[in-house]
Amino acid sequence: MTVFYKFEGKMYINITNGCPCRCVFCLRDNGDSIKDNDSLWLEHEPSYEEIIAAYEAFDKSGITDAVFCGYGEPTVRADMMVRVAQYIKDNSDMRIRLNSNGLVKLIHPDFDITSLKGLIDSVSISLNAPDACRYNEVTRPSFGEKSFDIMLDFAREMKNVCGNVAFTVVDIISEDEISRCQSLADSMGIPLRVRHYITDNESYT
Ligand code: SF4
Repeated sequence: MTVFYKFEGKMYINITNGCPCRCVFCLRDNGDSIKDNDSLWLEHEPSYEEIIAAYEAFDKSGITDAVFCGYGEPTVRADMMVRVAQYIKDNSDMRIRLNSNGLVKLIHPDFDITSLKGLIDSVSISLNAPDACRYNEVTRPSFGEKSFDIMLDFAREMKNVCGNVAFTVVDIISEDEISRCQSLADSMGIPLRVRHYITDNESYT
């Protein structure tokens, strides 16, 4: 079971395979590992004790950055993510990034986003589309079209929590749509990164 793995010099943290979305570009449909790491499909969701044991056993030499990512949406286990981030902060100098679909308030309506303050240093949020209708087609969230606005609210709130927020889109949408995503990101003062669609297991960041 791979909870921690190295990718491009960073330590990735895989705590769940759960996700309320079915993005059309999701790598979960195209393989189950990243580079030469073992399968990222978890046999079961690891307990806090299992995660900490895996962290302690992981070779962290030279690693300065940790990323909650993996083959699921980390905020499906938001409380566990907070506990693990706290442990990493207490026991290292690593910066911690969260890669998220931004839907934690739909997944866990009672989750307090401000609890991420001081734990999550940066967040990368999947914008995916320029409007709610296209977002619904590309991301296919179980919550439906309201997800788009909730995701944007999460991005706004995270600007206050960690100040370092970025959006991503995958280049499966049209150039015009990417341009509209850029305008939306600009209007929110959030940088946008365009990711190239990949169909193999070369990257999942
Ligand atoms: S949010 Fe991430 S894990 Fe979930 S379906 Fe989309 S790409 Fe896959």
